Amino acid sequence: MPQAEAICTNTLQHILLDGQDVACRFVCSKTAKKLRIKVTLDGVEVVVPEDREVQDGLAFVANNQAWVTAQLERARQLRAVRRPDKRMQGQVLFRGELVSVKVLRIDRRIAPNKVALEGSGISITCGSDARTPASRSLENWLRKQARESIKKHMADVAKRVNRTPNRIYIMGQRTKWGNCSALGNLSFNWRLIMAPDYVLRYIVTHEMAHLAIPDHSRRFWMTVQSICQNADRARQWLISNADNIKINLSTIVDSVPDKQGILTT
Ligand SMILES: [Zn+2]
Repeated sequence: MPQAEAICTNTLQHILLDGQDVACRFVCSKTAKKLRIKVTLDGVEVVVPEDREVQDGLAFVANNQAWVTAQLERARQLRAVRRPDKRMQGQVLFRGELVSVKVLRIDRRIAPNKVALEGSGISITCGSDARTPASRSLENWLRKQARESIKKHMADVAKRVNRTPNRIYIMGQRTKWGNCSALGNLSFNWRLIMAPDYVLRYIVTHEMAHLAIPDHSRRFWMTVQSICQNADRARQWLISNADNIKINLSTIVDSVPDKQGILTT
């Protein structure tokens, strides 16, 4: 049963559905004849006809909570794979800046795809029949950049926390930025290379601090804060840019070449 304190129309309410905190907007409508629930990428909206109570809308959501949570899950999956917005076409975030990505296809080239940072953009040179997709080469290249930057920060932070990790893994989870295992192995999401350096520094500091303090106690946060003053700003950046960071690289680069053989998506 969803729970909510003082419900009123046209404000965002947080209700509990199947154990999930769901943001729900109750909108009063003069024209609607029936209660209606709309689930979009932005959340849940309940349209309440003028002659009905908001409590009726809440009960309606409660009676349909399985449907609502299923729709929310669907929206979440859509969000994870949705195409970049217009602004992002042919561009990728790299160290916090939007940079252009160009794919250059060369007939009869048999060498492996080559990725390079040139001027203000990234170029991917491929043979016209290359078996490796340009997006895969771009990801490998970004992973390499991520590993190098993470190691650099790590060497620095290691001196502050007096700990060194056992092993380092570069992962591709969509939901996790970093992890510290009980064995003292650290893993980091390669997508962090899309974020500004201070964000990378914060995640490295966070996981390195876990080598000394495994929990999220006050002592842990004080340690993180003493090494990395931008912790709050970094967390905020990751929340605001989650969609752009989780972008599917193939939607940026794997499309049909134009007549000149140069791909400008
Ligand atoms: Zn943690």
